[in-house]
Amino acid sequence: MRAQPVASHFIDGEYVEDTAGTVIESVYPATGEVIARLHAATPAIVEKAVASARRAQVEWAAMSPTARGRVLRRAADIMRERNRELSELETLDTGKPIQETIVADPTSGADSLEFFGGIAATALNGSHIPLGGDWAYTKRVPLGVCVGIGAWNYPQQICCWKAAPALAAGNVMVFKPSETTPLGALKIAEILIEAGLPKGVFNVVQGDRKTGPLLVSHPDVAKISLTGSVPTGRKVAAAAAGQMKHVTMELGGKSPLIVFDDADIDSAIGGAMLGNFYSTGQVCSNGTRVFVQKRIKDQFLSHLKERTEKIVIGDPMDERTQMGPLVSREQREKVLDYVEKGNAEGATLVTGGGIPNDVSGEGFYVQPTVFADVTDGMTIAREEIFGPVMCVLDFDDEAEVIKRANATEFGLSGGVFTADLSRAHRVVDQLQAGTLWINTYNLCPVEVPFGGSKQSGFGRENSAAALEHYTELKTVYVAMGPVEAPY
Ligand code: NAD
Repeated sequence: MRAQPVASHFIDGEYVEDTAGTVIESVYPATGEVIARLHAATPAIVEKAVASARRAQVEWAAMSPTARGRVLRRAADIMRERNRELSELETLDTGKPIQETIVADPTSGADSLEFFGGIAATALNGSHIPLGGDWAYTKRVPLGVCVGIGAWNYPQQICCWKAAPALAAGNVMVFKPSETTPLGALKIAEILIEAGLPKGVFNVVQGDRKTGPLLVSHPDVAKISLTGSVPTGRKVAAAAAGQMKHVTMELGGKSPLIVFDDADIDSAIGGAMLGNFYSTGQVCSNGTRVFVQKRIKDQFLSHLKERTEKIVIGDPMDERTQMGPLVSREQREKVLDYVEKGNAEGATLVTGGGIPNDVSGEGFYVQPTVFADVTDGMTIAREEIFGPVMCVLDFDDEAEVIKRANATEFGLSGGVFTADLSRAHRVVDQLQAGTLWINTYNLCPVEVPFGGSKQSGFGRENSAAALEHYTELKTVYVAMGPVEAPY
C-alpha cells in the first residue's frame, strides 16, 4: 500500500500500534484504491496518549516561551523543505489537486508554526495593576492537555492551526485526525520531534466518532478544539460543558457572497468560483449563497458558465489539474443528492450537475455545478452541501440582501463585491458572521483571526487571538502592608 505509515498512532515520540482497534481504511479518492490500513485507538491507546501528554507538560511549560517558539519555527522550516513530499501525501489523503496542496496545505501549516513560534516570546505576557500601595499582576497560564479533533478537508493545516498556538502557550496536545484523512498528522508529529519537541508534547491517535468522545470526556483533558460539522459540535460542546472544559468550535457554514452591480465583474466571478470550487467545494467558509444584483445577473451567469466549463478536472497528481474528486464515495452521494433536490425544487441548472465523463470511473468526481434562480427556501440555499455546488440568488437592493443573507442559523463568513467602499463597510458591518471579505474571498492568512458566530461556532484560530483560547488568566494580589482586620 503506497501510503502505509509505520503504525497508526504517534505517542510519546514514537509510532505505536494496537491491532485490537477497529480497522480504518485510507482510500485515495481519485481511484478508490486503499492506500493505508490503520486502527482506531482503543481505550488503552487513548489512556496512553493522554498520560504521555500530561507527563510531558511539566517540562514543556517550564521552558521559556522563546525556547518553545524556536522548536516550532524549526518545524516550520522542515515542513517547507519537505513541501513536495507532504503535499503529495495530502493529495493522496484528500484527493485535492497537487496544484492546490503545494501552495495551500503544508505551507499554511508551516506559516502557523512559524507565526506562533515567533510570537510566543512576546504575546504571553501578563499585566501589572497598581492599587496605591498594594498591587496585583496577571499571568497567562496554559490550560494543560488539549485535544484537537480534525475534519477531512485540510488535514495538515487543521493539525497545525490547533497544535501551533496550543504548544506555543505551553500546552500539550493529543490530536485526532478525521478517520477519512488519517495520514498527514502523523508526519507532522514526526517533524515536530525532529525539530526538537520533547516526547509526549504532541501525540496523534486515530479514530472515528466513537473515539472522539473518549478524548472529550477524559478527566485529564482541559480543552477541546474541534473542526467539524454543527451536529458534531453540539455533541462535543455538550460533553465538554458537563466537565467545564474549554472549547473552540470551528463548524460549518452557508455563507453569503454579495455582488453589487457596480462590482468588477471578473473579480466577483473569480471570487465566487474560488469560494465554491477550491478544494472541490469542501471549504467551511465557502460563499455558497451568491447573491447577484439583478441588473448584472445575465452577464454574471454567462461569464461564470463559460469559466466554470473550462475548469480542468482530472488526476490530482497532474500539476495542470484544477479540480480533483470529493473526499469519499459517501460525500459524492451526498452532493449528488443535493443536486437532485436543486433540480426538483425548481432551481435552474446553469452547468454541471453530474459526474464528469473524462475521469477515472472509480474516483469520487462530480462536475463543478452552478444553479441560478435559487430562492431562500430551497434546500440547496439552506443546508451546507460541502461540494462544488454554487447557488446564485437574485436581489434588488441593499437592505433586502442584508436581511436575506443573515436569515440562516450559520454565521461563519461572508463577502461583498462592490466598487463603493462606504457601502462595502456598511454591509459587512451588518452581516452576522465571524470572518468577512471585501472584494475578495476565502483568504485566511495566519495573521488574521478566523472563526464563526451563531451555529458556526466560537473561539478563534490564527493570530494572537488564538492564544487567548489556549490560556487562562491567573490573578495575584500582592499586599505591601499589614492586614487591617476589624476583629
Ligand atoms: P464531522 O463533524 O463529521 O467530523 C469532524 C471530526 O469530529 C472527525 O474527526 C470525527 O471523527 C469527529 N467526531 C465525530 N463525532 C464525534 C463526537 N461525538 N465526539 C468527538 N468527536 C467526534 O465533520 P467532517 O465531515 O469531518 O468535516 C466537514 C465539516 O467540517 C463541515 O461541516 C465543515 O463546514 C466543517 N469544517 C469547518 C471548518 C472551520 O474552520 N469552521 C473547517 C473545515 C471543516
